[in-house]
Amino acid sequence: MEDYVVRSAIEGTQVIGFFARSTGLVEKAQAIHQTFPVATCALGRALTLVGIMGVSQKKVRRISLQIHCRGPLKEILVQSNQKGEVRGYVSQPMVILPPRKEGKINVEDGVGKGSQLLVMKDLGLKEPYLGSVEVQRGGIAYDLAYYFNRSEQLPSACSAGVYVAEGGEVLSAGGFIIHTPFGTPEEVITTLEQNLSRVGEVSKRLFQGETPEDLAEEVFASLPARVTGRESLQYHCYCSSDRARRALILLGKEELTKLLEEQGQGEVTCPFCNQKYLFDRRQLQEMIVSAQDKSRRFKS
Ligand code: ZN
Repeated sequence: MEDYVVRSAIEGTQVIGFFARSTGLVEKAQAIHQTFPVATCALGRALTLVGIMGVSQKKVRRISLQIHCRGPLKEILVQSNQKGEVRGYVSQPMVILPPRKEGKINVEDGVGKGSQLLVMKDLGLKEPYLGSVEVQRGGIAYDLAYYFNRSEQLPSACSAGVYVAEGGEVLSAGGFIIHTPFGTPEEVITTLEQNLSRVGEVSKRLFQGETPEDLAEEVFASLPARVTGRESLQYHCYCSSDRARRALILLGKEELTKLLEEQGQGEVTCPFCNQKYLFDRRQLQEMIVSAQDKSRRFKS
């Protein structure tokens, strides 16, 4: 089944919603990073939400969502673009935590209250747009809604979920983001709130066969909503040998020389897809020259 995002707008208002199924995307992330359930859920929720953000913001070339966790997951970084290409990693994929009271996977303690959530948008300008908030709960969707409200002054509701089987495999994943800008009629907000309170867990609904269109219909029930677009989502990494080479050059002349002397080769592993890039002695020597040139340029 294809992963995609449905865009739906409420006529006569500025309210817009994005509803996603991301099962394949999260399955792939789980397979790449060999995540245990806490990390599968945390990374899956973040990937789903950043995927929606990527296709929903037309002026943004690339968007990154980063969480510096106070909890044991340490760091989550997810990125996406307008084409719905999403990639990400969690620095501690094998965290094990007891479930929460209701038996749910404990993403909240994995991330931890008081963590920092950062959003970076590449708008094709000299400087990227940066926004950040302190994590309030740790479940990620609520915290992203808090970010939209606080940092972008854009009242929003977010939801994201990953349904994980007992053996750790991903059964379904999905989520939504709804923006309700200031000035939205009070009766629209009230209806939306009532609808949202009935929706429950998105991932279970998708597992039972519902589609993103069904979710949009339920969340926007009794409102004049109209589907205005559909974009696909997929896990896709855009690393390359050239990017890996540039990352190595950033180590600087001294580190590169040490690498050449001690190992005779350089290796870079992409943190998003685990692709390995190997550079031999001659290539390392070339890099040392480039690194040298760079330091000369800075001096002059
Ligand atoms: Zn990669």
